[in-house]
Amino acid sequence: MKWWTKFNQLVESNTLANTAHEIRGLSYWRDKLFTNIIVYLLPVSLIALVPGVIMSIKDGIPLLAVYDTLVVVFLGIIAFNRRLSLPLRKALLVICLYLLAIILLVYLGSFGPGLLYLLALTIFVTLIFPISIALWSIAMNVAICVVFAFVIHFELLDTPLTRIYTLGSWIAVSSNLVFLSAVIVASLNLLFNGLQATIEKESQLQKQLKKEGQTLEKMLEMMETKNQELEQFAYIASHDLQEPLRTISSIVDLLEKQQRDKLDATAISYLNFLSQASSRMRALITGLLEYSRIGKERQLELVDFQAILQELLTDLDATIRESKADIFIDNLPSLPAYPIELRQLFQNLVSNAVKFRRAGIAPKIKITAKEENGHWVFSVMDNGIGIEEQFRQKIFVIFQRLHPKSKYEGTGIGLAQCKKIAELHGGKIWVESKPNQGSIFNFTIPKN
Ligand code: ADP
Repeated sequence: MKWWTKFNQLVESNTLANTAHEIRGLSYWRDKLFTNIIVYLLPVSLIALVPGVIMSIKDGIPLLAVYDTLVVVFLGIIAFNRRLSLPLRKALLVICLYLLAIILLVYLGSFGPGLLYLLALTIFVTLIFPISIALWSIAMNVAICVVFAFVIHFELLDTPLTRIYTLGSWIAVSSNLVFLSAVIVASLNLLFNGLQATIEKESQLQKQLKKEGQTLEKMLEMMETKNQELEQFAYIASHDLQEPLRTISSIVDLLEKQQRDKLDATAISYLNFLSQASSRMRALITGLLEYSRIGKERQLELVDFQAILQELLTDLDATIRESKADIFIDNLPSLPAYPIELRQLFQNLVSNAVKFRRAGIAPKIKITAKEENGHWVFSVMDNGIGIEEQFRQKIFVIFQRLHPKSKYEGTGIGLAQCKKIAELHGGKIWVESKPNQGSIFNFTIPKN
């Protein structure tokens, strides 16, 4: 059927050339429908031409044979002439078919398809033209019927039509045509109005969606810039704060070492507080600095997750032994990722799983991975203290902690780092938990 597709494309490119449809609205579909009518009408009338011509000559109506041939030639011109405009093509088709209907009526009367043609024409015209022109097709049918009524009444012609019909029977038959034409135009118009409304609404929605998409894109850009500014600020602030902090620490050290004898017990305890506070501040500032640096020197590599975790467990050996933690690692995949950052992520999760254990219960930690919708989901499961529902989002915000440092040491930076690292990979992180039973920290990494 290659030739059919080619023929289809040729007719379409001829008829629809020079017509621009911004959106595929009703006028586009009317024009497309017209093309389709031509595509089917041309071969069908070619096939019908030979028997039509033979029958016309046999019945002694050579004019009908000539007109049949002319219609096919006209259809060929409408389909293949590249210079005709689309409205002219449509007008030519309609005129051609009206003439055919009239000739068929005159020469064949009720035995021919003349009345059927007039009805079909009303449908064609309603399909390919706007309603204002479609209404004219009803008027045209009325006019043709009235003219034939005169012809029949005054016996102006001697044809099968005038022989078969009396004025009364013609009025009875032709009024049906007019009535059906009106019903068709009205119903199709209703359908088209509905379609037009739907298309317009859809195009409006599309425009709105596009606009909202653009606004969203702008907001994302703005947020990215703000994020970068914030990171830059955090980096500079934590970097610059280190220097005065170092001075404070060394003066506290000096005071402790050199002036200890001259100080009373209260002053010494104040100095101890000062020393602890500056150590904590150093830890916070270092954490913040590390946080702001995450991803700065990232390098994408094929990462063997199994190997990363084995290395990590070796590094955490002392902590694991001391807490009597039992750690199980499932089969983990190799994926393109940022190795240094990922190691940090696992280190934070495993350290937390050990740290937030229940009193008197040795930590049991399970690290697993499973494939899900183009992602790998990694999970670190523990049997620790768990997290209440209302804190499960909050803990990923930097410096957010749920316990005093006297109970559990820490800076509140670890999970914020994990979130940043997961997002750096295009993934996300979340926690599921049952208070006093344990938690599962999950994060995703896209497969590609
Ligand atoms: P840090 O460990 O320094 O406190 P994180 O950002 O790593 O900071 O964790 C934030 C808070 O989330 C912790 O203070 C703790 O309350 C809670 N948390 C983290 N991991 C766990 C865990 N495995 N079990 C229970 N709570 C946890």
